[in-house]
Amino acid sequence: MNIRFVALQHTFDRKPKEITPVPQRSAIFESHVFNDQKMRQYLDEQSFKAFQQIKYEGKVVDRRLADHIASAMKRWAMEMGATHYTHWFQPLTGATAEKHDSFLEKTPEGNALERFTGDQLVQQEPDASSFPSGGLRNTFEARGYTAWDPGSPAFIMGTTLCIPTVFISYNGEALDYKTPLIRSVQFLDKYATETAQLFNRDVNRVYATLGWEQEYFLIDRALYKSRPDLVMTGRTLVGHPPAKNQQLDDHYFGSIPERVMAFMRDLEIEALKIGIPVKTRHNEVAPNQYEVAPVFEEVNLAVDHNSMLMDLMKKIAPRHHFEVLLHEKPFEFINGSGKHNNWSLMTDTGINLLSPGNTPKRNLRFLTFFVNVIKAVNDYEEVIRASIASAGNDHRLGANEAPPAIISVFIGHYLTQVMNELKQVRNGKLSPDEKTELKLEVVGKIPQILKDNTDRNRTSPFAFTGNKFEIRAVGSSANCASPMTILNTIVGYQLKQFLADFRKMRAKGLKKDEAIFNILRDYIYQSERILFEGNGYSEEWHREAAKRGLSNLKTTPEALKVIKKDKVVKLFEESGVYTKAELESRYHVHLEQYNTKLEIEAHVLSDLISNHVVPTVINYQNRLADSLSNLKSLYPRTEQIWKNNENLLKEVSSVFNELLKQHKKLEKAIIKIKKIQSEEKKSEFIVENIKPVMQKVRELSDKLELMIDDELWTLVKYREMLFTR
Ligand code: ADP
Ligand code: MG
Repeated sequence: MNIRFVALQHTFDRKPKEITPVPQRSAIFESHVFNDQKMRQYLDEQSFKAFQQIKYEGKVVDRRLADHIASAMKRWAMEMGATHYTHWFQPLTGATAEKHDSFLEKTPEGNALERFTGDQLVQQEPDASSFPSGGLRNTFEARGYTAWDPGSPAFIMGTTLCIPTVFISYNGEALDYKTPLIRSVQFLDKYATETAQLFNRDVNRVYATLGWEQEYFLIDRALYKSRPDLVMTGRTLVGHPPAKNQQLDDHYFGSIPERVMAFMRDLEIEALKIGIPVKTRHNEVAPNQYEVAPVFEEVNLAVDHNSMLMDLMKKIAPRHHFEVLLHEKPFEFINGSGKHNNWSLMTDTGINLLSPGNTPKRNLRFLTFFVNVIKAVNDYEEVIRASIASAGNDHRLGANEAPPAIISVFIGHYLTQVMNELKQVRNGKLSPDEKTELKLEVVGKIPQILKDNTDRNRTSPFAFTGNKFEIRAVGSSANCASPMTILNTIVGYQLKQFLADFRKMRAKGLKKDEAIFNILRDYIYQSERILFEGNGYSEEWHREAAKRGLSNLKTTPEALKVIKKDKVVKLFEESGVYTKAELESRYHVHLEQYNTKLEIEAHVLSDLISNHVVPTVINYQNRLADSLSNLKSLYPRTEQIWKNNENLLKEVSSVFNELLKQHKKLEKAIIKIKKIQSEEKKSEFIVENIKPVMQKVRELSDKLELMIDDELWTLVKYREMLFTR
C-alpha cells in the first residue's frame, strides 16, 4: 500500500467546516481574561488599588494581597467553568509549559472543596529537571520555581486557569525567556524615562511596544502525517519543487480559500477570548502560506500573546484537518516564514517616542530616541544577530528571501537627509541664528508622516517604518522575547550613555538643545556604517558591509559565540539583564538545541532514503529491467526497440549509485558525530561535514523523484502539499 495515495485519498473530499455566525469581535474580546475590569468587579477597592500600584514595578506581592487576588481569581474562574489552574511559562525549549492542578482539596474532616490560595498563585515548584538550564541547575541547585508575573493577566484556556509566570532557579537565575525580558523592560524604563523627561516632565514610565506579524504554512493533515520528515523535524528534507511555485505571485493577498478562512475565524475567536488582539490576516508570498498580526501591545504582554497564539494555532488546525507549520523553512525553493517584530517606545502619557510630530520640540525628542536606537544597533549589531540565531532561521538569513545575516538599518530617503544635515552642526556652542535655522529648517520640517517609508525596503533586517522600527530577521518559530530583550537592553544602555554625555555637555555650559545637537552629531558619525538604504540581497552590499566592519555570521554556531564576548557580558551584567552564568547557560542551551535538531534531521533523512527512496528506486529499476529483458528476448537483434529502455535504466542506476555513495557518507558521519563529546566540536562537524552531505543526498533524491514513475513514489510531493486546500 502506497502511503502517499492513502494520504491523498483523505484529502479528496475535505470540506470547509460549516461557518457558524461569528460574534462581534468586541463582544468576545478578553471574555476569558482576568483583566482590570474583572479585577475591579471581583476584588475589593483597596486590594485593586494596591495591585495597580505594583503591577509594573516587579515588586513582590505581599501574602495578604496575594490571598485576596487568588480568591477573586478563583471565584471568577469557577464561574467561567474552570476546574484546574496552571502556572504557564516559557522555558528555553521554545515551547510553552504548563502543569495542571485541580482546585479540589480535602478538608481534615474529609469534605471536598475548591481552594486556591495566595501561595499557590504566587509560587509553584514544577518538576523542572527535564527543562534545559545549560548547567545552571547543576552548578547551583536542582530545583526550579515558577513565580507569578503580575504584568500579564491570567486567562482561561478550555477549563484551565492559566497564570503567566517566570521560571527561575532556587538562587534566582533565569531559566526562561520571560525573566530577562522583564528585567530588560525595567532597565529600559529607567533611562528612557529620564531621557523623555528632558522634553516632558510629566512622564513617569516608558515601555517598549511590540507588534509581531506571524507567518505560517497550512498543510492538509493527512499529507503532513504521511511525511516522516515533517512530523519529526517540522520541515521537508527531500522533495522536488513543483513546476509552479510562487513565480506567478498569485497567492500574495489573493482571496483566502474557504477551508483556510474557517480555520482563521476559529483561531481569531479563540485568540480574542484570551485577549490576543488579532487584527489582520492575509495570504503570504508562497502557496499555502499565511500571516496573522495583532494590534501592538506592551512588549511583555505581546510576547506572551505570541507564544499563546502559536499554541492555539497548533490546537485549532486539526479541527479543520490542517497542520500548521511554524518552521522557518518547511520547503526548499519556496519562501520560508519569518516574524517581523515591530518595536517602539511609549510613555505612560500616551506619547510614541519614535513618532515624528509637527513641532521642533517634539521632533528633537523624536530625533534623540531615533539616533540613540541607531547608535545602539550599530554598537551591538552582532548581539542582535545572535538573538535571532536558530537552525531553522539559518535557512532564511542570506538566502535572498529574507534579510541577510548582516544587520543594517534602513531609515528612508528623508531621514537620511536629516542625518546629513545634523552632521553639519558646529562643535560646541551655537549662535542664535544657527539654532533657529536648525530648529526651523531641519528639525521643525520633519513631516508627521514620512511618505518614503511607505515604500519600504523589504531587504533590510532593521527598518524604520514611520513611527517604529521593524526587525525583519526574526524566525517564525522564535520566541520574540529573545530579540526584544536584546533591543530593550542595548537601547537602555545607550540612553544611559546619552544621559552621561548630556550631563558632560551641560557642565561645559551648553544649553539643553545645543548639548543634544552636539551629542546627536557625534553619534551619527559614530554609527554611520550601520545605515544602509540599498539592496541587502546584493553581492556589492556583502562586500561593502565587510569593508565597513559589519559582521556577517552565517551560521548559528558562529552567531552564538557572540554571547561569550567580554563586551557583551559587560553589557548584560551592568544592565542587570543577564548574569555571566545565565549567558553561558544560554550559549550551551542554544548550541545543544542546534546540534540536536541537526542530528535528528540527519537521522530522519538517512531513514527516508533507506526506507522510502531506495526501495522505490529498486522497484522502478526492476520494472525497467523486466521490460528490457522482455524486449531483448523478443527482438534480440533490433537494438532500437530496447536501446531506450536500456539507456533509461542506466541513467537511473547512475544517479542511484551516486545517491547510495552519498548516503553511505551520511551514515558514517552520523556514527562519527555520536562520538564527539564537546558541543562546540559537534556543531563544527555539523556545519562542515553533515549539512553539505545532506544537501547532496537531497539533490540526488530530488533528481530521482523526477525520473521515477509517479505511481511508485511513496512520499507526498510538494505540488500535492502546497496546492491541496
Ligand atoms: P506590514 O505587513 O506592512 O509591515 P502590518 O499591518 O502587517 O504591516 O503590521 C504592522 C505591525 O506593526 C502590526 O503588528 C502593528 O501592531 C505594529 N505596530 C504599529 N504601530 C506600532 C507601534 N507603535 N509599536 C509597535 N508595533 C506597532
Ligand atoms: Mg511588517
